[in-house]
Formats: sequence, structure tokens, C-alpha cells
Amino acid sequence: MEMNEYQDKASETAIFEHDDVDELIYTALGLAGETGEVVEKIKKIYRNDKGVISEDKVNDLKREMGDVLWYLSQMARVLGVTLEDVAQENVKKLQDRQNRNVLATEGDDR
Ligand SMILES: [Mg+2]
Repeated sequence: MEMNEYQDKASETAIFEHDDVDELIYTALGLAGETGEVVEKIKKIYRNDKGVISEDKVNDLKREMGDVLWYLSQMARVLGVTLEDVAQENVKKLQDRQNRNVLATEGDDR
């Protein structure tokens, strides 16, 4: 599935209808919550499973990463950008940093 196709299909399941700022806040809270769910599952792999990542845990993480993707796609929609735009811009930024040999340094605007 292409990223923009995913974003369109995800939008069909978005049940919130508010003004743009409320939508942005809603998607930010959802993104933070779902990211926390991913991190929590990884913590339990570390704590309960001695770092062994079973197929069931991979599937659990895959589902949670899908939830993260959903909120990210809806945040992008609220801001009027496509997931394709986000992905292309990210690759462009990272390739530029790689070319300048600053991938492992710090700072958003390097
Ligand atoms: Mg979830």
C-alpha cells in the first residue's frame, strides 16, 4: 500500500471533528499515547522476556506501530501535508546530513 493511499484510508476511520487546533492537539495526544504503548511493550520484553523477542511480541509491536502510524497520518492530514511529503522530506534531510557527515551529531537544524 502506498503511503498516501494509507493516509486516505486512515482518514475514513477518523471520528473526531473539531477545528484544526483541536484536531492537532487530539492527534498529538494520540500519537504520544500510542508511542507510549510501543515503548511499554518493549520494556516488558526487556523485563519479562529477558530480551527475547518472540513472534507474538513482534506482532504486538506491529499492531502498536500501526496505531502510531494512524495518528501520524492524521496529524499530517490536519496540517495539510501527505505522508509521502513527510517521508520524502525526511529522507532528503537525512541524506543531506549523511553527505555532510553530521548524522551522528546533535541539533535539529544541523
Ligand atoms: Mg494501541
